[in-house]
Amino acid sequence: MRTLRAVAELRAALAQTRRAGRTIALVPTMGFLHEGHLSLIAAARDQADEVVVSLFVNPAQFDEASDLDAYPRDEARDAGLAAQAGAHLLFAPPVQEMYPAGFTTQVRVQGPLTEELEGAHRGAAHFHGVTTVVTKLLNMVAPDVALFGQKDAQQTLVIQRLVTDLDLPVRIEVAPTIREEDGLARSSRNVRLGGDDRRRALALSRALRAAEQALAAGTSDAATLLAAARAAMDDFDVEPEYLALVDPEDLRPVATVDQETLLAVAARVGQVRLIDNTVLSPELHHRRGYADGDPPLAAGVNRTDPQEV
Ligand code: AMP
Repeated sequence: MRTLRAVAELRAALAQTRRAGRTIALVPTMGFLHEGHLSLIAAARDQADEVVVSLFVNPAQFDEASDLDAYPRDEARDAGLAAQAGAHLLFAPPVQEMYPAGFTTQVRVQGPLTEELEGAHRGAAHFHGVTTVVTKLLNMVAPDVALFGQKDAQQTLVIQRLVTDLDLPVRIEVAPTIREEDGLARSSRNVRLGGDDRRRALALSRALRAAEQALAAGTSDAATLLAAARAAMDDFDVEPEYLALVDPEDLRPVATVDQETLLAVAARVGQVRLIDNTVLSPELHHRRGYADGDPPLAAGVNRTDPQEV
């Protein structure tokens, strides 16, 4: 695996790949790779001949300077993990390469997709930072396919909208959320969970599971499901920033879970802001149900994710 830092070098390398008739997959990351990222790289290998992993902590999508400063970084470790997972190229540009002097353009998806949930709490500017950097990466790499994680469910909707609206010639694939054994969704920020906060961080996945169990038990009323999820968070003394049952396409709140519904949660645990989600499907739950003693939300994958690649 080669590590490249300049856009011109990246383009030259990928021109050769394309001339050889080989297809390209892009996995954008902010680094400090974990099993979630590695599962995207593995899925990318199934989707294309060559895999480009980008590693860029994008200042434009951070709404808090302290979060940007504290974001964990270890490029040497990331390079080792990406190579092991089968990536062909690591693109790790410095900030000046992505945002040279004079940079003034922004790509925005407008409306509820960027204003609800994460947008309501972090500000829509977070997503404008994401769509700007993703547009740049897609233009630099010109991949056949780009892979994103269901862990950031709202981000996948925003990016699919961007690609559709701007006729970007790339296929977007969404891979399931990878979790720790106890249910905590993998995140680069988890290393910042000190002391008792690692245990308290279970509030999010347990909330999702509590709603899944209530649904499996026959409750489809959104307020009742949300109350069950909320009670699970109370047990860990964690206050949600939001806990919402919404349409998985347009993020509009739903009153009844009678079709696939996104249950999304965000909460601060100590210094760390965490997000998680699951797709509730009444059918799935009636078919599979939950037995007492089941592990909290499938370790490995999010069992209700309809979009496995
Ligand atoms: P990040 O480095 O956090 O920006 O994430 C890069 C990509 O990895 C995004 O598409 C994320 O949705 C995805 N990702 C992050 N965490 C997970 C996870 N636990 N499972 C699957 N994908 C993930």
